[in-house]
Amino acid sequence: MDSAANPLLDLCYEPALEALGDDYYDIVPAAEFPQHTLRFRNDEILQQLGLAPDTVTDEHFTAAFGQFQGREPFLALRYHGYQFGEYNAFLGDGRGFLYGQVRGTDGELYDFGTKGSGATPYSRGGDGRLTLKGGIREVLASEALHALGVRTSRCLSLIETGENLWRGDEPSPTRSSVMVRFSRSHIRFGTFERLEYYRRPDLIDRLLEHVIEVYYPDLLAVNDERDRYGQFYAELVQRTARLVAQWMSVGFCHGVLNTDNMSITGESFDYGPYAFMDQYNPKFTAAYFDYFGRYSYANQPLICQWNLKMLQKPLALIMPAEDLQAGLAQFEAHYHQAYQRRMLAKLGFEALPLELAEKLLNQTLMLLSHAQVGYHDFFTGLAQQFAPRWRQGSDSIFGTTMQASDDDARTLLDDWRRTYYLCLQHFSEAEMVAVAQRLQQANPQTVLLRPRIEMVWEAIALEDDWQPFYALLKQVQSPFVG
Ligand code: AMP
Ligand code: MG
Repeated sequence: MDSAANPLLDLCYEPALEALGDDYYDIVPAAEFPQHTLRFRNDEILQQLGLAPDTVTDEHFTAAFGQFQGREPFLALRYHGYQFGEYNAFLGDGRGFLYGQVRGTDGELYDFGTKGSGATPYSRGGDGRLTLKGGIREVLASEALHALGVRTSRCLSLIETGENLWRGDEPSPTRSSVMVRFSRSHIRFGTFERLEYYRRPDLIDRLLEHVIEVYYPDLLAVNDERDRYGQFYAELVQRTARLVAQWMSVGFCHGVLNTDNMSITGESFDYGPYAFMDQYNPKFTAAYFDYFGRYSYANQPLICQWNLKMLQKPLALIMPAEDLQAGLAQFEAHYHQAYQRRMLAKLGFEALPLELAEKLLNQTLMLLSHAQVGYHDFFTGLAQQFAPRWRQGSDSIFGTTMQASDDDARTLLDDWRRTYYLCLQHFSEAEMVAVAQRLQQANPQTVLLRPRIEMVWEAIALEDDWQPFYALLKQVQSPFVG
């Protein structure tokens, strides 16, 4: 194919990271694949790149994002990271590279990063490949999270590549794929940690200035370097706290919150063994190898706070430690505020008197811990059943589906009903419509629970039937009613 006619290749690529110099990456070759079958293309992102989807064919996708030769250089990014609490200096892009960077119509710079594009110096004996199942799991996770209002990377394309892969955690041989991820930077906390390991404050300084220039441009106006760095860290703390609040409210467990999976832009990315939880369970873990529950659902805020603390080590080489401490001290307040706002919205409210809001939230979580109802089922049930007459008396609230399993649960439910009734009293009869609307808009009808993904995968694996995957994808992309 004439590459000049491929709109994906004609995008205006800006080698911003490459321009920083080769201390931050290795130039690597890409794998060649025996097959290129496009399984997913993200037309919404094409629009974000200023491309009309009908001008981009599937062949354009497979040529640009499945047959990499001729598009060099590819940069395997160097990074280290704390994995399950232990420092690992043998990391880096082991099965992906930075393919290119492109500015969106919003003026922001985005990465096209591959996953499954071949071995690199950081593969550590791995094959550098992505399983097809892993690919569809990441497509589904990022599309679902995006639709739920989580700040996340997306997938631009997923191409099946026709190789047999062997994995300990999937029936093998299993099918292969290559993905292109669309993200606001693949610079990780671990990218900075590596530079501290090699005692290179000069490289930390250069990288941080780059990060601020591209991803925190509002801070460019801050002339004093100490203030600029302090404000950067404070903002990263805030962005990260908000991100965790987003995960928590949608019942998402990332699974592997190592510092190499933490983005310096505060965006969620890298979806391996993630899971949405069904029943509310603070101890819920997503990764089968997370033996001690380090990355359990409820630990996520603490872990991200810890990860931010570890990032202080490299940053302390170029800025005062007290500025970093001051920034991190705000984490809990940011997290709490963001979490509360999102949970109140799930309960139908934009704002409530603080004490009442706390009480409703605590009682909701208590109830969810004890009642025989799923986390998402509770909120969708609330959205479906809500009626303005609930404002007239607490007895009518949630009368039908909520079954109390025992006396404790019954008491919790009654307490919850009374508190919910009190909350409704803060609004007029006419405002009940807004409550109903908010409930619909904040609570998804479709949740990407693991059994649903497994069913989709089974149809692909057993019968090469892709319809269930596309149907589920469509549902998670528009999970709200109306
Ligand atoms: P992850 O758990 O996906 O964040 O990956 C952790 C590290 O292992 C990263 O450095 C990856 O690039 C590397 N890695 C994961 N899977 C493979 C693979 N199949 N081949 C080579 N490297 C891999
Ligand atoms: Mg990773």
